[in-house]
Amino acid sequence: MVTDAPLIELREIRKQYGGNGDAPAVEVLHGLSLKIHAGEFVAIVGASGSGKSTLMHLLGCLDRPSSGSYLFSGRDVATLDSDELAWLRREAFGFVFQGYHLIATESARENVEVPAIYAGMPEDERAARASALLTRLGLSDKLDNRPSQLSGGQQQRVSIARALMNGGRIILADEPTGALDSKSGAEVMALLNELADAGHTIILITHDRDVADQARRVIEIRDGEIVGDSGVSAIKQALPAPDMTQAGRDAGASFWDDLREAARTAWRGMRMNRTRTGLTLLGIVIGVASVIVMLAVGEGAKQRVIDEMGSLGTTIMYLGSGHPSNGGPPGRLTIEDLDAVAALPEIGHVMPIIGDPVTVRRGNVDRQVYAFASAYVMPLVHRWRVGKGRFFTPEEDEQLAPVVVIGHKAWKNFFPDGSDPLGKQILIVDAPFEVIGVMAERGADSGSQDYDEMVFIPYNSGRMRVYDARAEPDYTVVEAASEELVGKAEAAMKKLLIERRGRDDFRIGNAAAKLQAAAQTSNAMKMMLGLIAAVSLIVGGIGVMNVMLMTVRERTREIGIRMATGARERDILRQFLTEAVLVSVVGGVIGVASGLFIGAALLFWNVAVIFSLSAIIGAFACAVATGLIFGYMPAKKAAGLDPVIALASE
Ligand code: ADP
Ligand code: MG
Repeated sequence: MVTDAPLIELREIRKQYGGNGDAPAVEVLHGLSLKIHAGEFVAIVGASGSGKSTLMHLLGCLDRPSSGSYLFSGRDVATLDSDELAWLRREAFGFVFQGYHLIATESARENVEVPAIYAGMPEDERAARASALLTRLGLSDKLDNRPSQLSGGQQQRVSIARALMNGGRIILADEPTGALDSKSGAEVMALLNELADAGHTIILITHDRDVADQARRVIEIRDGEIVGDSGVSAIKQALPAPDMTQAGRDAGASFWDDLREAARTAWRGMRMNRTRTGLTLLGIVIGVASVIVMLAVGEGAKQRVIDEMGSLGTTIMYLGSGHPSNGGPPGRLTIEDLDAVAALPEIGHVMPIIGDPVTVRRGNVDRQVYAFASAYVMPLVHRWRVGKGRFFTPEEDEQLAPVVVIGHKAWKNFFPDGSDPLGKQILIVDAPFEVIGVMAERGADSGSQDYDEMVFIPYNSGRMRVYDARAEPDYTVVEAASEELVGKAEAAMKKLLIERRGRDDFRIGNAAAKLQAAAQTSNAMKMMLGLIAAVSLIVGGIGVMNVMLMTVRERTREIGIRMATGARERDILRQFLTEAVLVSVVGGVIGVASGLFIGAALLFWNVAVIFSLSAIIGAFACAVATGLIFGYMPAKKAAGLDPVIALASE
């Protein structure tokens, strides 16, 4: 006789369907009360439509009753939250469904492993146990077959193996023989009998009286009510009930194990639907590649503007004398004016310049060369290095020292044998100058003169020895203290000079401002290109969402199966999010590669392209974020599915 508390106790269970909105409420179970002890082998028998499946879903915690209470091992199931219910499903129950409900894309062994994934069993142990179970059920040679490559009886045995994977203390079998021929059906029944002997509690649901009679206790159900019960039978042995104090305990799989598992499933999903995955990938690839290429082309164009206009940099203004705007004789800027300008805090260097083509000779070489008389700061202002020797000093300038620094080509021109020019003399308009340095090669500038052919002399030496004591510089290069200060520097200089001179008899050419404006234009251009590219990335993201929504719809039944075997909402959420992110990560990687490839091809065609690491990282990060954001909605939808409804879907 059985004296201890029942494993399962139903008290006055009612279940209604509908009643919300248009469908009228239909009561399917009318106050069922039932006790089942651990180790029993019970058949619940009844005609089709009598409420057997409904009862099984309630017993397996896939659904909740409308009223009444369900005590499992003494604990009211209504008090369990969704994670605790998932725990209970995977610890206590093993489902064997009428339609087998195997995941079509996974092999027999992988199907059997599913419940253990959610129980956190390590991979090796899982595979070994699944193989052992399948071998025990006579399927050792079918481990890697897909469900479609198995007969009905074999599929049903796979689903029994799956029910046993986590222990299967209670096997809930809904018409397990319904779809099988009599021989396979008999085999399944023999198997259930064996399991009952081993202490498993078996609850078998059937419409077939003959099948029911093979169980050790028969409960008859008609129109949602129990109309017969053969009473508790003898129990050979019983597996212990799960420890309800552990309800909801985490399975203990590490985050990485979970992630790897989700990635594996995701990868398989992607491979199963190659065309669709390919098209989605294409969207992301185009998005990422265009962000990278467009930003690189934009940056290249911007840099080209700066290079073309800005061999002088972005801080340079030109100051010269001129007629006042209201007419009158031109002014003449004095050295004192220039000193006052130099003293302004917004101004960096001030460099007066006289320059004209003059005759320069050495030995029998005689050429017209531009002699550039300026200050010692020339290399600094023009961002131009001295290649050999040195530039002249302020003291040499003050003392009218006859020293000259020559351009790279000037060296070639005047020293055709390539000999060391330092310390040698050249004649500039008959005045001897000693070569003290050679400028580094400047290369092609867009200006009309070739700087590499010039010679550079101190301003005062030039004025006195070459240019006949000319009083005024041709023009003066004025450098703003910084790029940001160009506008302010121009205004301050203008104000100061008007104050000093009483009229605007001077001209300021703001090369820097023009250059900055040009750079800003191309910056705006770059932003626009980037924006267009970003839009295509978003379009790619919508593609991901579209595909994920389709995937969720197609795989609703798989989601139901996973939930029935113990997956929590967050497991499902993670799985589908991982799929979305995996698509965008793969798309992002291919996109970065294609972007670099297209950029390199453009470089080959002489388009200015400057890759930026931040654009590449940014585009990739955006792609992944897009996958996360657009994948979240479908994943959330999947996780929120009701297990019973999901299982019932086609
Ligand atoms: P059985 O498994 O014994 O054939 P079910 O439990 O599947 O019976 O169904 C019992 C009754 O409940 C049937 O009349 C069926 O139409 C109804 N039913 C089952 N599921 C739903 C549902 N989700 N919504 C509305 N009615 C349902
Ligand atoms: Mg049914």
